[in-house]
Amino acid sequence: MTEVLEQEQARDTGVTRISHWIGGRSVPGQSGRSGPVFNPATGEQTGEVDFASVEEIDAAVASAKQAYESWRNVSLAKRAELMFNIRELVHERREEVARILTAEHGKVLSDAVGEVTRGLEVIEFACGIPTLLKGDFSEQASTGIDVYSIRQPLGVVAGITPFNFPAMVPMWMWAPAIACGNTFVLKPSEKDPSASIWMAELLKEAGLPDGVFNVVHGDKVAVDRVLEHPDIAALSFVGSTPIARYVYETGTKAGKRVQALGGAKNHMVVLPDADIAMAADAAVSAAYGSAGERCMAVSHVVAVGDVADDLVAAIHERLPKITVGNGMEPDVEMGPLVTREHRDKVASYLDKGRDQGATVVADGRETAPEGNGFFLGVSLIDDVTTEMDVYKDEIFGPVLGVSRVDTYDDALRMVNENPYGNGTAIFTRDGGVARQFQFDVQAGMVGINVPIPVPVAYYSFGGWKASLFGDRHIYGPEGIEFYTRGKVVTSRWPDPATSKVDLGFPQTR
Ligand code: NAD
Repeated sequence: MTEVLEQEQARDTGVTRISHWIGGRSVPGQSGRSGPVFNPATGEQTGEVDFASVEEIDAAVASAKQAYESWRNVSLAKRAELMFNIRELVHERREEVARILTAEHGKVLSDAVGEVTRGLEVIEFACGIPTLLKGDFSEQASTGIDVYSIRQPLGVVAGITPFNFPAMVPMWMWAPAIACGNTFVLKPSEKDPSASIWMAELLKEAGLPDGVFNVVHGDKVAVDRVLEHPDIAALSFVGSTPIARYVYETGTKAGKRVQALGGAKNHMVVLPDADIAMAADAAVSAAYGSAGERCMAVSHVVAVGDVADDLVAAIHERLPKITVGNGMEPDVEMGPLVTREHRDKVASYLDKGRDQGATVVADGRETAPEGNGFFLGVSLIDDVTTEMDVYKDEIFGPVLGVSRVDTYDDALRMVNENPYGNGTAIFTRDGGVARQFQFDVQAGMVGINVPIPVPVAYYSFGGWKASLFGDRHIYGPEGIEFYTRGKVVTSRWPDPATSKVDLGFPQTR
């Protein structure tokens, strides 16, 4: 279809076609397969995204492979300059992309700007690529022999990303990957794909050569081709645990380097000496921010000893103050969920919890705004035990569970026996106990009186256990390691005494 026809179609139906981005230009899909994109706040379909065929994935990889030949030759100084250009443009236009995020994901605009800001920090880190790629040097390792290490890019690398951070999670991947000298193929979530195309256009405007960054949309067909493609050297995945496990197993079997970040059940342990108001504020913002659709959301509070009654009351008291609605409106604090199906699945846990013996303190179905948007109000479920589905499953919505335990040891056991190990937090005034928790707990990211301990960009992000498959965390120093491979050179030069160059003085050693 020509661009004019597409524009006419968009005008007639209000539905925009979202195409691939290959070799520095928009490429409409030819597979005949596509999927709907909704505005979750209104329930209306706003887009139709093309789903890539095997041939379309192959075309994107071929474009990235061709671009790699010259991209890896671009000097570190030029690559750093380009990252600075990208940083400036994203910073200047962050509100523009934030609006796209709100329109397709549903998160409130301020949170969407926050997402872009956190992603920008990773781009800023990547601006330091000349320093980050410095190797080691050992002079005179043996007589006349020097040994040094260098890190080189891998070639074509791919990223497969989830719906919940459509701008930031791709930035975790492409910014360090490209800065290291790789070329990139992104397969974003089909639920909110437009931010990736916005980003591709911006990267071109910033001066990135065509083919260095490509976007192909799609579903399992696209992912499976990425997993088996012989010209893709490495793959970063972020999404749910079952798909992360599948991607890791299939990708590594095909000989690729894979890091696959999965789902989470993040516990917030509150000890009896904690500041209750501080803990309640933290639990509310960390559980319900972005409608609980964050892999670092606090989804479960573990109340230790006699703190439970006061803590649950303090959380409950704060719930009516959370304004739920269209995230484009300035006073709204929580938007809708991403799709109708996901909203219904999240809501179903309220009945499951009640049926299995938990106490539903607040039922978000009763407070959801009217209309066709995919809304659910905030929910609080007390007296949750580890056998219940509300505890075992990652709900990924605005539903906070609470378990009551007697001691610190009981709380620690609960966190450590959970199959996930992404983030966790402890609230206490006792530094010694907090330090012990940091020592004992089995999770990749730990907060001490901080509910969402997402590492700053110069550390790396990643969970343990079923929250990450692979041995490298994402972005930060481990991101640089993941997107490069090491080479060690051992060198000897002929003795200068035999040199034909007149050195002007006798050579003795
Ligand atoms: P998802 O696993 O459904 O999808 C992630 C990606 O995999 C998407 O691009 C999707 O198209 C693709 N995919 C989906 N089903 C597939 C299949 N059967 N075969 C091959 N590919 C498939 O995840 P989501 O619902 O988009 O995102 C939410 C999940 O992501 C949650 O579990 C959340 O905890 C997790 N997440 C984890 C982190 C982290 O850092 N650990 C960060 C963000 C999100």
